[in-house]
Amino acid sequence: MGGGGEDLTFIDDEGKRLDGRKPNELRPIKMKLGGVPNADGSALVEWGDNKVMAACYGPRELHPKHKQHPMRALVQVTYNMAPFSVSDRKRPGPDRRSQEISKVLSEALTHVTFVEQFPKATIDVYVEILQASAGTRCVGLTAASLAMADAGIPMRDIVTSVAAGKVGGEIVLDLSKEEDNFGEADLPIGMVVNSGEVVLLQMDGHMTTAEFEKAMGLIEDAAKEIYGMQVDAIKAKYSEVGA
Ligand code: ADP
Repeated sequence: MGGGGEDLTFIDDEGKRLDGRKPNELRPIKMKLGGVPNADGSALVEWGDNKVMAACYGPRELHPKHKQHPMRALVQVTYNMAPFSVSDRKRPGPDRRSQEISKVLSEALTHVTFVEQFPKATIDVYVEILQASAGTRCVGLTAASLAMADAGIPMRDIVTSVAAGKVGGEIVLDLSKEEDNFGEADLPIGMVVNSGEVVLLQMDGHMTTAEFEKAMGLIEDAAKEIYGMQVDAIKAKYSEVGA
């Protein structure tokens, strides 16, 4: 939430946003399982101008051994932005932001995984941001779920993620880069669509309670749509295998 966008009109007289979307409209999304044959499972998600590859390895024995949990597996997500993923080159390597995102993604995915089935093991999920354009943690979490499903990790369900935010005083779904830079608030959510559980909730900026509820309404509807796309992507891979 950079602020400073006071001169921008985020929603025009026809109710359209800067990129022509309606307030409750997602950016175009494409998902495909596979792409990293050496991994146990992988997925590529293109979402607006974001391009994210996720690869899952495991369950496998966790090294070093002192990090092992005797009763369950750890789900360890490593989120990384490629240096070329943004126009002004991101300095390579981990930083506070990528560590934070890795942690919240790990917690969200641990929640749906039957970790008790794999004592002392690790399930490693690498989320590589190849091209970034706002909302990468949501795209990364959506892609990571698919990579884990592709790897056959036993899960209660998959996680679906999308954000809503506030721009020019309006609540809108799935902020674009410009909206993210100049908007007033961003609310990324990860959820289990079938149960309605929220497994990731972060908020940057300020919203009133009524605005928050409106944003959650947009997110819940969009999450159902995205979940449908995730299921279709999984089915597409299985029908390929069966063919
Ligand atoms: P998210 O990508 O989940 O929305 P942020 O709100 O932290 O996470 O980042 C918003 C956007 O800002 C990113 O999607 C990316 O386009 C851009 N961005 C983040 N970090 C950097 C960076 N180090 N250099 C350039 N752009 C960045």
